Amino acid sequence: MGAYTEEETLDKLSKLYIPSEIDQMLPLIREINRLKKEKNAVLLGHNYMTPDVFYGISDIVGDSLYLSKMAGETDADIILFNGVHFMAETAKILSPDKKVLIADLKAGCSLAESITRDDVKALKAQYPGVPVVTYVNCSAEVKAETDVCCTSANAQFIVDSLDSDTVIFLPDEYLAQNVQKNTKKKIISHPGRCMVHEMYTPMDIEITRQRLGGDVTVISHPEYSREVVDRSDFSGSTSQMIDFVRSAPSKNILLITECSMGDNLRMEFPEKHFVSTCQTCPHMKKITLEKVRDALLEEKFEIHLDPEIIRLAKNSVTRMLELSYNKK
Ligand code: SF4
Repeated sequence: MGAYTEEETLDKLSKLYIPSEIDQMLPLIREINRLKKEKNAVLLGHNYMTPDVFYGISDIVGDSLYLSKMAGETDADIILFNGVHFMAETAKILSPDKKVLIADLKAGCSLAESITRDDVKALKAQYPGVPVVTYVNCSAEVKAETDVCCTSANAQFIVDSLDSDTVIFLPDEYLAQNVQKNTKKKIISHPGRCMVHEMYTPMDIEITRQRLGGDVTVISHPEYSREVVDRSDFSGSTSQMIDFVRSAPSKNILLITECSMGDNLRMEFPEKHFVSTCQTCPHMKKITLEKVRDALLEEKFEIHLDPEIIRLAKNSVTRMLELSYNKK
């Protein structure tokens, strides 16, 4: 099986799916896990994958920082990334000699698509000498123009660690605002947004707090607007959000995030009551068990990158990993 045994997977899936749905999933889950062994493939699963992909077949699960690191350390011949295209590109950057696959090439990202390599070049020309920090949710070409990448887990730390009073921070406008709040450095941002995160408003939080008489812990991601983050009890990366759920003061949790992460946490923390609201990322939902099976069977769709782009992009990603994992 993946990160979980078949027994554990069935136990978790039975909390969300009806028996006939599980009966349909199980043969595919077994086939994928058999193919993985035959082909010496490792499956990485982002927190936003649906529970069948997350619990049933992914060998390593987590947020993009952790998965980026693990992609560089695996000795598997094939890496199949259950996530979106920029994540599979990051795996290729860190493991250029391996075959890196994604089950659907159209699994993109509105945020990553908000900026091009030429946009970054133009900003660098406008602000010569100013270091560029780029959120990993961007293409390999954009990473190649970047001094150091960051994730939502380490954005603040990376910005503060740079020896410069001004930093170009790309491409997420909201994450840039939330970093700006906690640093004296001047942040130059770009108007990129995630289509899922921009749908929430402070009103969503206020309504839930009123409905539950205040007995709710609100947890959000720093890719939300500053107003949403300011009204939350905690804001952090997907992994930091999970850690906070463990110690949350209230049994009622308003998790302001993508829907599948809420589903996965419902199974992980049956003692908590997760108050919906959530938004679905249509890109993440393009990854299904059927497509993963076909991708492994036919060894498609392979990520190909120009070697020079890999070399340049790798510098910015490894610099982030070194800074993040070497900090005390
Ligand atoms: S949730 Fe937002 S940032 Fe993540 S893949 Fe979807 S569009 Fe991109």
